[in-house]
Amino acid sequence: MVAGASVAGLLAARALREHVGEVLVLDRDVLPSGVRPRRGVPQGRHPHVVPAGGYEAIERLLPGFHGELAAAGAVKAGAATLLSSRPLFERTLRRRIERLDGVRIAGSSEVTGVLTDAGRSRVTGVTVASGGRLGAIEDIDLLVDATGRASRTPAWLAALGLDPVPEESVELGLTYVSQRFRASGAPSEILADGRCVLAQEGNTVLVSGNVTPPGEPIGAPATLRFPRAFRRYYERIDVPGNLVVLGDAMCTLDPRLRQGVTVAARQAELLTDPVRDNARPQCEAAALLETPWRATAAPKSSASPESPAA
Ligand SMILES: Cc1cc2nc3c(=O)[nH]c(=O)nc-3n(C[C@H](O)[C@H](O)[C@H](O)COP(=O)(O)OP(=O)(O)OC[C@H]3O[C@@H](n4cnc5c(N)ncnc54)[C@H](O)[C@@H]3O)c2cc1C
Repeated sequence: MVAGASVAGLLAARALREHVGEVLVLDRDVLPSGVRPRRGVPQGRHPHVVPAGGYEAIERLLPGFHGELAAAGAVKAGAATLLSSRPLFERTLRRRIERLDGVRIAGSSEVTGVLTDAGRSRVTGVTVASGGRLGAIEDIDLLVDATGRASRTPAWLAALGLDPVPEESVELGLTYVSQRFRASGAPSEILADGRCVLAQEGNTVLVSGNVTPPGEPIGAPATLRFPRAFRRYYERIDVPGNLVVLGDAMCTLDPRLRQGVTVAARQAELLTDPVRDNARPQCEAAALLETPWRATAAPKSSASPESPAA
């Protein structure tokens, strides 16, 4: 079972399908059929750039994904990279995963806690709130927490009387203010301080920070505060042996590094080999974080795309 149907969760489901008969992916959001931002992914209204290495990792799990995203309207940016809104990226990914036999994705289903055996050595199920009702899913073999920054695994483990999860955090104090504009042919530009103009599908651009508006605005600016990044060291403690925590639930990186999607994809790839217990994937997932976490924690200017574009 996978909690969270965003980038890390969807790719984890694909990887698990290599050796698991059935994968259920639950997300607390209503998952839109169209291309629009959703509450559980507030960063979806802000610029997302996935570098070539990220596309390569996704392509290893989902051959042809790059072509599908291009066909859906993403704009070419160099030989191996595409620019699109985050909602288009995610919807293209979700549609691809929905087509896999043996994978079921359910929205409006919030995972609210974990059930374990008497020795707290295995997760046996999860409690779920769905449509105003509380229920449980039992007899699960493996739980992947891909619930992002909102992950409540530390609190669930504490409620079971297990050791606290060691956590490190770095104050970044970022505030993103982004807005879409109707404009065709505006050149994409990313500045070192995070301000940017990015071409998107449908002759639109997404502008973040204090940049001269390139055309007619679509909707109001969106604001997102990103005060701090954190890293949780699950690989250092005893947790139930069939619980794996990946993606932003394990570590949020400085968004200006544009590494979150790539790391999530590479971590998901670790699940293509049979998972006997969490030790191997959790340690290898941690190893993938070493360089980007060091870059996140390194002192830098606190410049942030903080002023509305318009
Ligand atoms: C402003 C900003 C800009 C960014 N720009 C980039 C970029 O340019 N390039 C890049 O690679 N990365 C970028 N990132 C990082 C990127 O968004 C994440 O790393 C990436 O989305 C992977 O996240 P995830 O799947 O782990 O979690 P998320 O994408 O946050 O998804 C978590 C999912 O879990 C669901 N959920 C939460 N709680 C529950 C629950 N209890 N039960 C069920 N479901 C639940 C949510 O609804 C959501 O669908 C940016 C981040 C921010 C904040």
